Amino acid sequence: MYKVGITGGIGSGKTTACKVFEVLGIPVFYADTVAKEIMCKDVVLVAGIKSAFGQESYFEDGKLNNKHIVGIVFNNEEALAKLNALVHPAVFRAFDAWEETLPKSVPYSLKEAALLFESGSYKMCDTTTLVTAPYEMKLKRVMQRDGVSAEQVKARINKQLNDDEKSKLANHFIVNDEQKSIIEQVMALHQQFLKVAESLKSANA
Ligand code: ATP
Repeated sequence: MYKVGITGGIGSGKTTACKVFEVLGIPVFYADTVAKEIMCKDVVLVAGIKSAFGQESYFEDGKLNNKHIVGIVFNNEEALAKLNALVHPAVFRAFDAWEETLPKSVPYSLKEAALLFESGSYKMCDTTTLVTAPYEMKLKRVMQRDGVSAEQVKARINKQLNDDEKSKLANHFIVNDEQKSIIEQVMALHQQFLKVAESLKSANA
């Protein structure tokens, strides 16, 4: 199936854009949500995390000890890379399993991931879409949504590739600047993706 990766900086509106695709009937795999789920469910991943970061990485009820993990990986590039090397392959496995469950009538699927480019998972997509928004707008949106300070949001933004870097790797763009309609932009892309998916299907028939 034709796979579209979709990403954007924190607060850019990638989840909002994905909700519009969902209304159009396109299934969306939310990689960051799935990553959180499988960190408690995927036995291979759980074993890997315990081995790398200690048994105290999990509580007795099986829930992830976020404080412990964040305490280790925060500002420790090596530990963060180790955690990502465990989590990303598990998310790839979960995505493949999810795709298998989709009906054949689905024309294409979307994979939403904050770190689509940073994790390398864009290489497994047929095309990519970057959602962008002005810096101050992203800051304001996340402060309002999460009830956090500007400094906390800035620290999170600074950990991601900037839009200029991401733009070099993206094939399509959605500008979510509250001037251009996000719905119209999603609908235009949807038509493009349908055409490509259909032509690929015909070529493979
Ligand atoms: P994150 O990476 O933090 O999950 P995101 O890129 O998925 O962020 P959203 O959660 O879609 O971003 O949007 C962030 C906040 O901004 C949400 O509260 C959302 O409702 C709001 N928002 C997004 N786009 C718009 C818009 N065009 N107009 C008004 N509010 C918006």
